Amino acid sequence: MGRTRLVAGNWKMHGSRQANRALLDGLVGAVPVGGVECVVCVPFPYLGEVAGQLKGTSIAWGAQNVSEHAQGAYTGEVSAAMLAEFGCRYVIVGHSERRQLYGETDARAAIKFAAVRAAGMTPILCVGETLQERDAGKTEEVVGRQLNSVLEKNSFEKSVLAYEPVWAIGTGRNATPEQAQAVHAFLRKRVAATTAILYGGSVKPQNAAALFAMPDIDGGLIGGASLVAKDFIDIVKAAKT
Ligand code: PEP
Repeated sequence: MGRTRLVAGNWKMHGSRQANRALLDGLVGAVPVGGVECVVCVPFPYLGEVAGQLKGTSIAWGAQNVSEHAQGAYTGEVSAAMLAEFGCRYVIVGHSERRQLYGETDARAAIKFAAVRAAGMTPILCVGETLQERDAGKTEEVVGRQLNSVLEKNSFEKSVLAYEPVWAIGTGRNATPEQAQAVHAFLRKRVAATTAILYGGSVKPQNAAALFAMPDIDGGLIGGASLVAKDFIDIVKAAKT
C-alpha cells in the first residue's frame, strides 16, 4: 500500500539530560532500520539538546503536547510555532493521559491538531476506548467520535493516527493483534489509504512483530519500552516490512 512504517517513542515525563544522552547514543548507532521512520517525543525542556544530538541522524524528534493557542497569556503552555522552531517534526495530540488527567476534550484536541498542521508539523492523533467502554461494546463509537471531531474541521492529510486502547497503556496488557486490527480496519475506512495508523499500548519486543504483521497496523506508539534503547530498537526492527 506504500504507507510509511513508523515507530514513535513517547518518553512521557521521564528522562534526565544524562539519561537522554545515553539512550539516544544507543539509538543513533542502530537506526535507521530499512524503511522504518523513527521518532522520539520528548519532554519540552529537552527539545533543544535532543535536537542537537539528533540533527543529521535519521531519527526525528517531536513533542507530546501543544497549546491550541498561537501566543499570549497562557502560563505554562507551549505553542506549535515554538515546537517548529526547535525542529520538531511530530507532535502527539489527544493522548489519553491528556484526556483523562487534564480534561482535554475532543474539541480541544481538534484545535491542537489544526495548530500542529498549520505550523508544518505532523500530528499523531491518539484515539482509544476505556475498558468500561470496550466492555459496553462502545469501542467504535468512542474512537469514531474522537476521530470525527478532528475530521469535521481538518483533512487528515500528512497526519498520523494512533489507536491506543486506554486499558492497554502502561498496564502490560496489550490488545491482541486481532483486537487491534479490527479497530484499525474500522479507522482505516475513515482516513486516506495512505495514512499511517499506529498501535499503542504495552508494545514490547515480544509482541511487536505479531501486531505489526496485521494489514492495517503500520507501526507503534511506544511508551515504557521507548526508554530502553535495546527494546526500542527491537521494536523498530519488528516494524520492518
Ligand atoms: C503511550 O504512552 O502512548 C503508551 C502506549 O505507553 P505504553 O507503551 O507504556 O503502554
